Amino acid sequence: MTAREQMAGYIALQRLLDRRSMLKRERDTPPEALAALRTQFSERHDKLHAARTQREALQTEQATLQREADALREEREHFRKQKSHVTNMKQLSAVVSELDHVETQLKTKEDRLLEIMQQLETAEGSIASLGEESPEEKGLREQAEASWNARRTACEAELTNVERELRSVQRQLGESAMNRFKKLWASRKPNAVVPTEGTACSACHGDLRPSLVQLVRAVEELQFCDHCRRLLYDPEQFPASA
Ligand SMILES: [Zn+2]
Repeated sequence: MTAREQMAGYIALQRLLDRRSMLKRERDTPPEALAALRTQFSERHDKLHAARTQREALQTEQATLQREADALREEREHFRKQKSHVTNMKQLSAVVSELDHVETQLKTKEDRLLEIMQQLETAEGSIASLGEESPEEKGLREQAEASWNARRTACEAELTNVERELRSVQRQLGESAMNRFKKLWASRKPNAVVPTEGTACSACHGDLRPSLVQLVRAVEELQFCDHCRRLLYDPEQFPASA
């Protein structure tokens, strides 16, 4: 294999590896607009759920308290009647004490019932203002999810192609050239094979000796940047579309 062929193989590997990491990043990162829609949806969903749960708890408490208050009112009625039939002071003071006790209990329950009514109003208000997702919003969100799914599927398909091409280039390069590349990659990834930029290295921007620039153009053997030790190539001889 000539140095030029080996160089072409290494450049192909670098470009395929770039493409692979770009595709993986794209596949794993939902677009910002979709992420925002998802957050908005789940936040509203959570708030709505919390408000409904609170409303239910308040309604249950309200029903219980109302029953208890009704029972206390009956008791009060009973003691009031007793009060009108007492025959001595001892009986009177006993009934008055019972009545006081019932009144105190009733007052506590009535106060809480009032509080519950206000809390229920607040809960109803937030349920109404949060509302359900409108059909337009739902449509927008589902469309964003669908196009993201399609994009991910396309990424997966392209990744499969890239993997296949990588295997093909690896086969063409052979074991010893591949071992050399792997060593270079291990120490210089994700940019091990870089184009020159005029008379500089495009990775570290260090100036290259004129003789080195000439050698890179000649492609008679592999040339490395003096500063960052990356493998250099002339982009005019190995254009990205090739
Ligand atoms: Zn460099």
